[in-house]
Amino acid sequence: SKSAELIKEYQETGTLSALPSGHFIDGVFVEPSHNRTMESFDPGKGKAFARFTAGDAGDVDKAVVSSRYAFETVWRDLAPVERCRILQKAAKLILENSDLLSVVESLDSGKPLQEAEGDVRGAARTFEYYAGACDKLQGDSFPLGPDYVGYSIHEPVGITAHIIPWNFPISTAARGFAPALAAGCTVVAKPAEQTPFTALLLAKILSDAGLPNGVCNVVTGTGAEVGAPLTQHPGVDHITFTGSVETGKRVMKAAADDITRVVLELGGKSPVVVLADCDLDQAVSGVLGAIYENAGQICSAGSRLVIERSIHAPFMEALVQRTKDLKLGHGLDKPDVGPVNSSEHLAKIAGFVERAKARGAKIVAGGNVTGVPGTGDGWFFEPTIVDAVDASDELAQEEIFGPVLTVQIAEDAEHALQLANDSQYGLVAGIYTKDFAKAHQMARKIDAGQIYINEYFAGGIEVPFGGNKKSGFGREKGIEGLKSYCKTKSVAAKIA
Ligand code: NAD
Repeated sequence: SKSAELIKEYQETGTLSALPSGHFIDGVFVEPSHNRTMESFDPGKGKAFARFTAGDAGDVDKAVVSSRYAFETVWRDLAPVERCRILQKAAKLILENSDLLSVVESLDSGKPLQEAEGDVRGAARTFEYYAGACDKLQGDSFPLGPDYVGYSIHEPVGITAHIIPWNFPISTAARGFAPALAAGCTVVAKPAEQTPFTALLLAKILSDAGLPNGVCNVVTGTGAEVGAPLTQHPGVDHITFTGSVETGKRVMKAAADDITRVVLELGGKSPVVVLADCDLDQAVSGVLGAIYENAGQICSAGSRLVIERSIHAPFMEALVQRTKDLKLGHGLDKPDVGPVNSSEHLAKIAGFVERAKARGAKIVAGGNVTGVPGTGDGWFFEPTIVDAVDASDELAQEEIFGPVLTVQIAEDAEHALQLANDSQYGLVAGIYTKDFAKAHQMARKIDAGQIYINEYFAGGIEVPFGGNKKSGFGREKGIEGLKSYCKTKSVAAKIA
């Protein structure tokens, strides 16, 4: 298969010839204003495998000018059905290129190849979904009586900036680009400096699908040199930011200077509430996937297990056993759990666990930085469980963003609800119970943007996604995600 060929090429040469170079501006790969590059690392080996362009404010400006011109001259006024056809073609081309996209995504982020393949299929599905929405952005008409005509139209907001984190590079790009383009907006994106390649490849695929030049631009580089100038650029009309709370605050402040719209998708410390009457096997599998998928580097990871005391012992026995059985490995070897994304991030995760050990924490699985034979100095952390953690402990309050599960014991369902809500974050909550009335009552009372009942990460592109509290505001995905990229104009006219 194509994936096997690419993996062979990487093993033999230490890089991939299909990697793009330069920024993607105005429909072509272009060299930057200053010829500087940065290294991108393979987290599974702890080794650089490619260089990419380190842009600056000058490159951002070129991209914004290109987006503005494309918006005003072609994309805004194109018949919606034409936009629909281009996005449909894009979905098809993403699938046709899925081997390349998945191998690059796995290599660059460290995530297991099978997970990267799922992300790429998801990206295609996102374009398919929003392709169908382009020609359904209908307005309303208003009953003003016989002497007036009143109606509304949904206009594109204009030039949209997309700032993307390293944990889901292609998924996050797709879930921002597709609705923005469907609404008639043009895009300037900045992928994370740890994972720049799939956003560039995606922009080229969109161009191959017929997207006019300048409608989707990608500038690579650091947050300080590319991200900040993009958020401060007066030509940008909307910012979709996905990343940490700290950077989110900076983005919101920059946006405030120019009254630019923002959607902030920030961190989480999401609880998985397991009640005594759950299906035990289903809940154990759910908890395992919630924390170890992408080595726990998911904004919506289920990083706090909140479990009723009466089933704590049998549940933990099964969970610890299955955690110990997980195989770590290089992403391209399709392990159960891959490396974490960078050496700095590994040190941050290890710091949380070392401090917990010093406080006498009950570590019942994992707990250490580790190695995987044959991978050199890859950045691996053992799948870890810390039992019986107090709600005030930093392990229960701070986002670790790694394969570390914190267990909180609840006396009953009411206490579980209280523990679930005891957080500065409000992104996601999982609930496992066979009692659906109880599940829906709890769903109503949990302060989070989305609730998963009996299957963590349930739902797809159809379902709105976003945070409450410090997890941010605004929603992506679903029809609601499309509305972020539209502004309503109402028209009222006296006709008699
Ligand atoms: P980060 O905030 O460090 O970086 C995110 C992006 O912002 C990167 O592209 C970075 O270069 C850029 N950036 C950095 N400084 C900037 C600045 N001053 N101005 C503009 N852009 C700047 O976050 P990260 O470490 O890459 O990602 C992990 C975080 O993202 C976690 O907190 C995680 O929960 C969150 N996240 C949230 C979601 C969600 O949907 N809510 C999804 C994925 C990740």
